[in-house]
Amino acid sequence: MRTSIATVSLSGSLTGKLTAAARAGFDGVEIFENDLLASPLTPEEVRARCADLGLTIDLFQPMRDIEAVPEAEFARNLRRARHKFELTRRLGAETVLVCSSVSPQAVDDDALAAEQLSRLADLARESGVRVAYEALAWGRHVSTYDHAWRIVETAGHPALGTCLDSFHILSRGTDPKGIADIPGEKIFFLQLADAPLLAMDVLQWSRHYRCFPGQGGFDVAGLLHHVLRTGYDGPLSLEVFNDVFRQAEAGPTAVDARRSLLVLQEAVGRAPLPGPVVPTGVAFAELVTPDAEPLSALLGALGFTRAARHRGKPVALWEQGDARILVNTGPAVRRDGTRLAAIGLESPDPAGAARRAEALLAPVLPRRRAPGDAPLDAVAAPDGTELFFCATGRPDLPDWRSDFEDTGREAGPAHIRGIDHLALTQPWHHFDEAALFHRGVLGLRAQESVDVADPYGLMRSRAVTNPDGSVRIALTVGAAPTDHTVHAQHIALATDDVVASARRFREAGGTLLPVPANYYDDLAARFEFADGELETYRGLGILYDRDAHGVFRHCYTRTVGRVFFELVQRDDGYRGYGAANAPVRLAAQHTVRALTGG
Ligand code: MG
Ligand code: MG
Repeated sequence: MRTSIATVSLSGSLTGKLTAAARAGFDGVEIFENDLLASPLTPEEVRARCADLGLTIDLFQPMRDIEAVPEAEFARNLRRARHKFELTRRLGAETVLVCSSVSPQAVDDDALAAEQLSRLADLARESGVRVAYEALAWGRHVSTYDHAWRIVETAGHPALGTCLDSFHILSRGTDPKGIADIPGEKIFFLQLADAPLLAMDVLQWSRHYRCFPGQGGFDVAGLLHHVLRTGYDGPLSLEVFNDVFRQAEAGPTAVDARRSLLVLQEAVGRAPLPGPVVPTGVAFAELVTPDAEPLSALLGALGFTRAARHRGKPVALWEQGDARILVNTGPAVRRDGTRLAAIGLESPDPAGAARRAEALLAPVLPRRRAPGDAPLDAVAAPDGTELFFCATGRPDLPDWRSDFEDTGREAGPAHIRGIDHLALTQPWHHFDEAALFHRGVLGLRAQESVDVADPYGLMRSRAVTNPDGSVRIALTVGAAPTDHTVHAQHIALATDDVVASARRFREAGGTLLPVPANYYDDLAARFEFADGELETYRGLGILYDRDAHGVFRHCYTRTVGRVFFELVQRDDGYRGYGAANAPVRLAAQHTVRALTGG
């Protein structure tokens, strides 16, 4: 199916928007009049630029508040329309959008609306264009798609059809089933947008919070099913008003947008994508650092053994149980120092996983990072994290482990079982994109997003997991592009006895994040504990949470660069990540930073 995007969905100048849309692989655009007015290009030049980029102009939005008004008013509207239809013709566009009127002049008279829209369509036809009439959810008298369609049907004009907009339909809770009753050829255009489920004024909701399909709470795929059943064969067009996207770079937003349409088309059986290959575990987490010493001390105290070294690069493999951490001192390290740069995901079909990622517009990384490396399939996530698809120990496939030679060091008794979860911070304007990427590309399930108070703002967090929980990634973003600890990433290590693990860590010289006494006073009020239990937690800085399934106990190391470790004990099927404790943790980290000047 053809894909299109409204210029209003992207930031920048009109030409920048067009370039971004073309690069992301869109077939066409909807041009918003404001983008044209602000452009130094003539309509003919815009048309030529689009043609050069391989884009069609699928829709022009220059007019509103046309219909169901007194005759004198309508005559003025027709005069305005004549200019705009001529402009549409010069752009080489075929369809003009007219939204249902919000004017106080408009009267509640469907027959008058149909008659005037019919005359408008006559005029459109003279310029060789056609009119798509759309019900705004806040239209004065026409606010539902079926009402708009009844008026179009009454008018019975060949140059008048309807435009369906998933936001206007789904935000009102209207049943989209009736769409199937509209003849496909009378649906002149289809605009798609999702939105988070919010209880707010629908106009504000629409203008500021729309997002790409799959990023919000609407059943956009369900709606599209009904539209496709009519035989509609026009483009799928994204019309997304979003405060964040308006500020973000147009290029990545356009890629995110087109990925959302690919996932959506797949959901309705219209995109021949390679199927998802869901990862089955975490092979490794790779940290890059300018100085291996602080990390080595920390990993040693946590009970890890430096088990192997890379044959050709300054990369050490630290192991304990099934937890494997690579410490890479090789690449030029950015200003922010130590960070989590790559994740190895165990994959039943690494090449298939990479093919799907590529089909969903993820940048594919060179299979060998250096001569002599095992050829691994890898892609970049939107935040730049490198994702390697691994087949650890599979004799039939390249094994990353073969790039390493053992140090011969004896491993101590393992009290860490493996990696419980990884927490990645996202660039603040790419949070929704990150969730869609991990869901669509990797086939992980997204959980509800939660907001957490940080001393300097709000943090949003959303976890994505595989079915058995052996891959858990918490995606986190600050509410603003600030430079606080919200930028910290962490690796959570699973233990069966967090108290014993915390004690061992301390005895080995490790320092745990101190937790304020007030926190434990509150815990005592909320939960019942066995004698001495709470004192033990208090003494070590262990945090506690409980959900409908089980119990979570966890504590934190100090931060190195941007990275810290968490020790977690997850009992009886607890599903969360201790989000209730995150504000205390964040405040404690801020206190440590203030004290150490870090
Ligand atoms: Mg619309
Ligand atoms: Mg955590």
